[in-house]
Amino acid sequence: TDPIRVAIAGHGNLGRGVEAAILHNPDMRLVGIYTRRPAEQISPRRPDTPVFAIAELAGHADRIDVLILCGGSKEDLPQQGPEYAALFNTVDSFDTHARIPDYFAAVDAPARANRKTALISAGWDPGMFSINRALGEALLPDGETHTFWGDGLSQGHSDAVRRIPGVAGAVQYTRPVPAAMEQARSGSRRMLTTREKHQRECFVVLQEGADAEQVRDTIVRMPHYFADYDTTVNFISAEELARDHAAMVHGGFVIRSGNTTAGTAQTIEYSLKLESNPEFTASVLVAYARAAYRLHCMGQYGAKTVFDVPPGLLSPKSAEQLRAEQL
Ligand code: NAP
Repeated sequence: TDPIRVAIAGHGNLGRGVEAAILHNPDMRLVGIYTRRPAEQISPRRPDTPVFAIAELAGHADRIDVLILCGGSKEDLPQQGPEYAALFNTVDSFDTHARIPDYFAAVDAPARANRKTALISAGWDPGMFSINRALGEALLPDGETHTFWGDGLSQGHSDAVRRIPGVAGAVQYTRPVPAAMEQARSGSRRMLTTREKHQRECFVVLQEGADAEQVRDTIVRMPHYFADYDTTVNFISAEELARDHAAMVHGGFVIRSGNTTAGTAQTIEYSLKLESNPEFTASVLVAYARAAYRLHCMGQYGAKTVFDVPPGLLSPKSAEQLRAEQL
């Protein structure tokens, strides 16, 4: 059979990750990278991959089986998701959890009207963590689910620190508190507070003459971002920042603990330890691109989430092969 023709819209961290992930999936072929920037500013991983202006997408509908949307959730996807779901089968990683129902509706209507399949909010959270939360609750209805994030670099929190006057550079790591994880694993039902579950650690490069104590104070008191957490602030040199903090590490845990009968505890744990958040997220998107294409071939149109996709559709192997090898 012919390889699935995949295209990338948006060439940031995630777009570059998708390029790498497709190389591990011989049943897929990358047919183009589409960008809002001048094409000559993009260096594809393989020099023979064509780069196009995003305006050309509309004319390329017959060349592309699935378009992977790699734009940001805040500004790009709310516009690009509905627009391209009218023209292509799409996959994206929209991760603003509170807005997912609205985004689903905005993508569903154009996809249905044009008989396309649009898989939204794939990745790891939302994505693999969502599946594990839903599974845990379904298998152990009498129980409690805890999600922990980290150790991980948070882009949003790092940006917030960088905007503080006197800060020349910064990264922020979210770390689960070990005692809280032990409690979740122990089967305790007590709800943990924000401060009990995660701590935050910042590595900050100061501008010349900046007041370290004032910067520290501004960080730890920042509402929403840091005020509800125990936050540690470390001051380091620009060289240390570049040397030790360039990797976009992330990960986390979904723990469901419950009881099947009184006094009989059961615990399910799913964990991820990621050296590159965007490369892993991209790997998930590529597997879901295969599934979205298959759903489309089966006549299942409209917006879908990871809950709507049978796991076998993610695998390049046939149902027969999966039954023989992995059941
Ligand atoms: P990013 O690197 O900021 O890229 C976002 C877009 O910015 C690109 O598609 C690119 O589009 C544009 N861009 C403009 N100037 C750029 C430049 N100089 N270099 C690179 N890109 C530039 O964001 P990202 O790290 O790829 O993350 C994208 C989204 O993935 C995030 O917003 C997040 O919502 C989502 N995400 C989801 C999960 C999950 O588990 N579900 C996990 C991680 C991330 P053009 O090429 O068109 O300019």
